Amino acid sequence: MRKFNFCSGPAAMPEAVLKRAQAELLDWNGHGCSVMEISHRSDAFVELAESAERKLRALMNIPDDYAVLFCHGSATHQFAMIPMNLLADGKTADYLNTGIWSDKAVKESKKFGQVNEIKALVERDGVFTVTDRSEWKLSADSAYLHYCPNETIGGVELHSVPVDGRVLVADMSSCILSRPINVRDYGLIYAGAQKNIGPAGMTIVIIRKDLMGKASARTPTLFDYKVLADNGSMYNTPPTWAWYLADLVFDWIAEQGGVQAMEKHNAAKADVLYACIDSNPFYRNPIAKPFRSRMNVPFRLHDEALNDKFLQESEAAGMLALAGHRSVGGMRASIYNAMPMAGVQTLIEFMTDFAKRNG
Ligand SMILES: *Cc1c(COP(=O)(O)O)cnc(C)c1O
Repeated sequence: MRKFNFCSGPAAMPEAVLKRAQAELLDWNGHGCSVMEISHRSDAFVELAESAERKLRALMNIPDDYAVLFCHGSATHQFAMIPMNLLADGKTADYLNTGIWSDKAVKESKKFGQVNEIKALVERDGVFTVTDRSEWKLSADSAYLHYCPNETIGGVELHSVPVDGRVLVADMSSCILSRPINVRDYGLIYAGAQKNIGPAGMTIVIIRKDLMGKASARTPTLFDYKVLADNGSMYNTPPTWAWYLADLVFDWIAEQGGVQAMEKHNAAKADVLYACIDSNPFYRNPIAKPFRSRMNVPFRLHDEALNDKFLQESEAAGMLALAGHRSVGGMRASIYNAMPMAGVQTLIEFMTDFAKRNG
């Protein structure tokens, strides 16, 4: 039986997408083989690739002066690719540090150039919050400002664009397609696929075209955005299976009503789950309300000795992967686009009942 899967990533996929992929696995569109068994240079695959890009452009309203790249690998690869491509010698990049992922991006970028790190996450009376913009010491002339709109592990989300008038680079791995955004606010957006797009192994990069073509001379060919853009993300064999599944997920999001509908759906799920946590002294979420994530909801039991029992019983009740990240402990419910409201309701009922029985 299929269970409600709260895994932070690789995360649950829409059931309709899995069924369609299953139905097409042995014979894709009458080609007599699966999509992962045909040449990426074939007309059929190129058509699929282009249609996936068109669908993503439509969903996110991506302007023509932005390139969309379907890259190999993970968001972590981008931590290196971004400074290789955008951080010229003698320039500085600003990095906002609001949690574990942006911290990793900072550490990697320092291998490639001058970095001004702004530590913006602070703990006040046991509650984590993001400092006010007026406290950030941005450099006068930075190449770009990197930030992570949704910190997947901490459950910290910046719900609006943090600064304007700068080249913004955003790690949207765990929030892409979860709400409408204005792509023009950004120079570069990237997202590993395995949270809101598809399977692991592919990362989508949306980059303003004028930012490409300036990679340092030592940049490996495949790490140069310009090379990827000039070759339709097919300089080498692309991750064709992941690309295909992303195309199906884009269809599914459009069928649901697009990113506007996703935003409503995600806000509704997060609202009821935070309300459950806040109204029950048995549970606690440690993030200041304006910065709570709609995608990843961490929470703690008032008695941590009950953690194992909570995890065993929730799994027996049909809910997977509620353990928090190994670095922070506690619990975390990841409720990306594909998590139905019924999953969140099931979790809330379980949490309420568990608190009653163990409180
Ligand atoms: C999951 C995640 C990453 C890392 O993704 P990998 O594919 O494992 O490199 C980076 N940033 C954010 C915000 C994430 O959620």
